[in-house]
Amino acid sequence: MSAVQFDITKEDPRSRARAAVLKTPHGEIETPAFVVVGTMASVRTLTPDEIKKAGSQVVLANAYHLYLENRHEVIAHAGGLAKFMRWDGPTMSDSGGFQVFSMGFGSDHGIGKNTPYFPGRDVPPDLSKTELEGPKKIKITEEGVTFQSPREGNLISLTPELSMEIQQAIGADMFFHFDECTSPLSSYEYTAAAVRRTTRWAKRCIDAKTRGDQALFGVIQGGVWEDLREKSTKEIMSLPFEGFGLGGPVGISRDDIKKVVGWMTELLPKEKPRHLLGMGSPKEIMDVIGAGVDLFDCVVPTREARNGTLYTNTGRLHIMNAEFRLDEAPLEENCGCSTCQTFTRSYLHHLFRAKELLAKRLATIHNLFFINSLVARAREALKSGNFPEFQQDFYAKAAYR
Ligand SMILES: [Zn+2]
Repeated sequence: MSAVQFDITKEDPRSRARAAVLKTPHGEIETPAFVVVGTMASVRTLTPDEIKKAGSQVVLANAYHLYLENRHEVIAHAGGLAKFMRWDGPTMSDSGGFQVFSMGFGSDHGIGKNTPYFPGRDVPPDLSKTELEGPKKIKITEEGVTFQSPREGNLISLTPELSMEIQQAIGADMFFHFDECTSPLSSYEYTAAAVRRTTRWAKRCIDAKTRGDQALFGVIQGGVWEDLREKSTKEIMSLPFEGFGLGGPVGISRDDIKKVVGWMTELLPKEKPRHLLGMGSPKEIMDVIGAGVDLFDCVVPTREARNGTLYTNTGRLHIMNAEFRLDEAPLEENCGCSTCQTFTRSYLHHLFRAKELLAKRLATIHNLFFINSLVARAREALKSGNFPEFQQDFYAKAAYR
């Protein structure tokens, strides 16, 4: 008996896109759906009511961050993630694998958080070295990963079993197996070894699963190599997972993302949900819906909002620019979000310039609403058989990646 039920309601005959209803113990998700990131059991600056009004259906927290200071025990004590944060809806958690690799390594390669080169998530490490000298040591063994916390400096070890223990304490409706994330900079040989290890860790995660009310998704890796993606897809789909996480690829071009995602969705069984991990610029979202992806999470829309970069149907708007100082229009005409219904560009420009906290909140509400309504419109187009036209129309109008 599966913890989630996935019912496809419409398949697009001209692409791999599909619309479905994903039923979870905490409610239904209409897919395709954008999954908003709430790393620390919180979507930054927003209350659950605001998250819902921005159109979000599901929130994703992170096992690694919630393991620090044993926060997962507090969450378990409170009755699970949804109840703890008073989010009346479905939740997911990420295994922590990606964060371990990125936080243990990233800055040693001169690329780190907020690097534009990596649109989706913080930069992954180059795992062609399994041990580094100096303050940011990381060691990957068959047992798991040990690394020195870049924040506190203490040694942290994560194993597949510990990730399962943390995620089962967090109690999200859907969660991911502990995988080994590689970088586009990793060699073929290293990536192949990581694929094999990811499958062995997948089996250990399945063995460590004790709760029947959570759906475990298996993560597929393999970098940018077709044969490795194929091998990983086949191995992971042969195991009793209830859905799939498409791992990476981060830091590659939009065309390559489409290609790599296509290799996986071509092989995956239709009847289980697919979640692309850490991808979600507006155009990438349109791409991957067409490639047959049902769910996708990304920190970028909310992070960009906090930095004053707002999304519109014709491109990004940098609200700090002088041109908006006296602009009495809303961020976007006809936007249904509470920010656009109430405030002007001039006021938002002022709040950002004055570094007022309200700026981040109002901007986050708009960007989240924008992404959710874009995906909702794509879903409606899909249901009425017009998805390819909707996709082309959006590509033509939107002046951003
Ligand atoms: Zn708006």
